Amino acid sequence: MTSKASGSRVNLLIRGGYVLTMDSAGDIPGGDVLIRDGVIHAIGRNLEAPEAELIDARGKIVLPGLVDTHWHMWNTLLRGMSDGRPVPDEANPQCYYPDRSGYFATCVGLGTHFLPGDTYAGTRLAAAEAIDSGITTVHDWAHNIRGLDWAEAGLRALRESGLRARFSYGYATGHQNDRLMALDDLRKIASTWPEYEAGGRIQLGMAWRGTGGSNPAMHVPPSLYTEEIAAARALGLPVSVHACGPALAAGQLQTYAAAGLLGPDLQVVHLNNASPAEIALAATAGTPASVSPWTELQIGYGQPVTGELLAAGLPVGLSVDTTMLSGNADMFGIMKVTHACANGQARHEFALTPRDVLRLATIEGARTLGLDAITGSLAVGKRADLIAVSLDAPSLGVPTEPARLLVTAATPRDVDLVIADGRILKRDRVVTALEVPEVIGTARAALTGVLSRAGV
Ligand SMILES: [Zn+2]
Repeated sequence: MTSKASGSRVNLLIRGGYVLTMDSAGDIPGGDVLIRDGVIHAIGRNLEAPEAELIDARGKIVLPGLVDTHWHMWNTLLRGMSDGRPVPDEANPQCYYPDRSGYFATCVGLGTHFLPGDTYAGTRLAAAEAIDSGITTVHDWAHNIRGLDWAEAGLRALRESGLRARFSYGYATGHQNDRLMALDDLRKIASTWPEYEAGGRIQLGMAWRGTGGSNPAMHVPPSLYTEEIAAARALGLPVSVHACGPALAAGQLQTYAAAGLLGPDLQVVHLNNASPAEIALAATAGTPASVSPWTELQIGYGQPVTGELLAAGLPVGLSVDTTMLSGNADMFGIMKVTHACANGQARHEFALTPRDVLRLATIEGARTLGLDAITGSLAVGKRADLIAVSLDAPSLGVPTEPARLLVTAATPRDVDLVIADGRILKRDRVVTALEVPEVIGTARAALTGVLSRAGV
């Protein structure tokens, strides 16, 4: 289907909001943002632009679109299924988890039965939720690419959504540990990238297994994982890796540091179990981190370590990770739990302020993806990725400290307006970029097919 988000841009004047620029301009109460040709053309008060469509933002907080930094969007099709379902052995020879339950077992047990249309349906459902939640940049950590058709399906869903994205080309869930990931397919996609990049809105990266990542059943030989990251770097692609799980975390960062693999182009996800010495190594190398508080807590990796990472000097972004565990992609909830955990751990009311956390969900998240010159704050010349949050709900109501309201009180239902790359994706609290009922219907049908083929 044709995406409504791919329509032409209009010039927009967003008038009279409380503008939180998250940039050197600070806050501008009663401020205007003028968007021309997908770019932030001016920010200030009483701007004039007769040719622009006027959007009334009075009584609303206008801020940069929220930035997710790691999300397995395909498995949104399996939302809420991390407790697992019995999967017959014969149907899933690669489902090698003794208790056949839990997130990883379900991910492999059902993920091996995905067809390209299921990846499309799952990614599109995730994208619709992202838009509804005020997220304008996603990092799609695609770790169920079972062939080029699956990669193209995920990319099509991203392209049609209108979101800004990094698409990290990964492996197939259940991919054998002693086999290289499909590097030739990655090279093929990279060589024809202009066909996929949606005018520069989508960036290509690699989702790397590393020594075994977060999956307790994976132990990848060094000869393979070094060849894989070398291939990504030869293509000039940014890389992301999981480094977590109590059983596997010890020494992962140390291993990468010793091999000279850490650096600003290698995002590391979940550092809950890294030692202070390892975190220092990552900081020295300029390695950025992604923290997904809900899933880290729910799967038992331990408390998110946001405060420690920031104190060590790592660039930090926040992430959804997977709605199989987290349930939803509510970045407001992610900010709230990040804030609460950091202050609780530090036993200090202001270890992190709401504004600190809002930075992680906007400009700092963009920085971890290498996109901070393009998005993550409201500044003239940047691409127009912004949202407006209404204060009309009973759970908000009073215009007090805007950053604290956003981090502790706002929810996706309060997101009134979402603009990515200058195009309106949600307006008057309704997602306009996609036909949501059709997206949901397609996802339901796809899940029925996956479960049927899996024999459950
Ligand atoms: Zn993950």
